[in-house]
Amino acid sequence: MKVSIVSLTCCAGCVSSFLNAGDALLDVLSEDFDIVYSPTFIDLKEVPEVDLAIVEGGIRTEEDEKLIKEVRAKSRILVALGICATHGGITSLGNVLSLKTLLEKEYSQIASTKLPELKDMMYPISNFVDVDYYLPGCPPMPFLIIHTLKSIVSGKPPIRHQSVVCTECHRKIVPAKLDRLYGIYEKEADHELCMVSQGFVCLGSMTREGCGAPCPRAGFICFGCRGPPDSLLYRSRDMYAFLVKVMSARTGISEETVKEELYRNPFIFHTFVFSKLARFQARERVI
Ligand code: SF4
Ligand code: SF4
Ligand code: SF4
Repeated sequence: MKVSIVSLTCCAGCVSSFLNAGDALLDVLSEDFDIVYSPTFIDLKEVPEVDLAIVEGGIRTEEDEKLIKEVRAKSRILVALGICATHGGITSLGNVLSLKTLLEKEYSQIASTKLPELKDMMYPISNFVDVDYYLPGCPPMPFLIIHTLKSIVSGKPPIRHQSVVCTECHRKIVPAKLDRLYGIYEKEADHELCMVSQGFVCLGSMTREGCGAPCPRAGFICFGCRGPPDSLLYRSRDMYAFLVKVMSARTGISEETVKEELYRNPFIFHTFVFSKLARFQARERVI
């Protein structure tokens, strides 16, 4: 199988995660998996015809749009790798400002900066081309990438993860009676209780499972890098209201106070931007 690995606007962390798969990566490479194009590994300028294209990053520049359309036209199967590609991800944080304001605030002082031609916003790739599989994560765990690629190579559909991170986290969810929320560095976390029951803003209940919940298991919060689960996939505009409801139910704090707390406390790290622009052709393709 001929494979191309393409990077659009991103931090290149998803391809790094693929390389971090260790011996499992060698297993994939020893199968029928021939990387014929990847600016990270190979000095080849022309985008070739391939069976499988793996694409990290989203669309922020005119060049990104041109490239993804060419890649799509020359690929039988296209996998969106990582939440920048699938949803917009952290690279769409810039969408909170208009392009004009963004350029004035961030670039007007740097006289020598020569920018590529930018689009008005950062977009996930599904806004421009059809996507065969979406593999969200920031970055996706190496084992998820390997499983997905091995399944595609062997012609089987990859296992889908449809539920939420809470199902993989072994912390006890108990209703609490708190009077405020906490930033993760403000107090020591109990090892067994749900982070939300302790007043921390963990997004596990609104985030797709599949990663194995490494963050809450390690005493940190889930910051939502796998994107919404099936039940919330088409409701991304309601995500904030959903978060407030969950926080209120598990902490005993009123929804109004939860909203105030989310804005009041600068130590509360709670957001992972899901682009409201993300369009999924079918939830059956989200892994
Ligand atoms: S999804 Fe995360 S790791 Fe992957 S390219 Fe985007 S910012 Fe980087
Ligand atoms: S909200 Fe977070 S800590 Fe609580 S059960 Fe879900 S994933 Fe675990
Ligand atoms: S626990 Fe949450 S933030 Fe951590 S890897 Fe899983 S989805 Fe991403």
